Amino acid sequence: MNLIDAIRTIPDYPKPGILFRDITTLLGDPRAFRQTVDELVQPYAGLKVDKIAGIEARGFIIGGAIAHQLSAGFVPIRKKGKLPHTTVSIAYSLEYGVDEMEIHADGVLSGERVILVDDLIATGGTATAACQLLRNLGAIVEAAVFIVDLPELGGADKLRAMDVPVRTLVEFAGH
Ligand code: AMP
Repeated sequence: MNLIDAIRTIPDYPKPGILFRDITTLLGDPRAFRQTVDELVQPYAGLKVDKIAGIEARGFIIGGAIAHQLSAGFVPIRKKGKLPHTTVSIAYSLEYGVDEMEIHADGVLSGERVILVDDLIATGGTATAACQLLRNLGAIVEAAVFIVDLPELGGADKLRAMDVPVRTLVEFAGH
């Protein structure tokens, strides 16, 4: 099936002018969900991947399924203040102002091979910060995978410029 048909677009959410690409419809469709996970992991089957790092919150759902499929561990990257043990954090830019994301300091070990997962890449602010956070702990970021790319916003190119291979399944024009 064409996965683009399983994604719902909500105009003007969460604010006017944004076309929100809602993957809950894809997750709720058994065939679409399975196909998504199968296609995202396909290049990495047979590779040694230690951990999947998922970005809060939709990256947890897809990342958990990918971790199971690749027999890898899962490590959450969360908004500041949510993780209970010792964390390392990184600040990153949002459209207005800055935010911080965190990972447990022992969530990945130096030299571990990690794949980063989120539902969508737009400007790449979130994913580039997450890659930097993983690298700060000494991890090797093998790839970053997303269901949706908004290529005009340039996020995937920013990751490639950091030498992170990017895999995406569906593209939407515009923002
Ligand atoms: P960015 O840091 O600009 O690449 O934004 C990526 C993050 O924001 C991801 O966690 C996405 O889930 C979310 N996001 C950004 N734009 C959209 C959009 N148009 N529809 C759905 N989610 C979005």
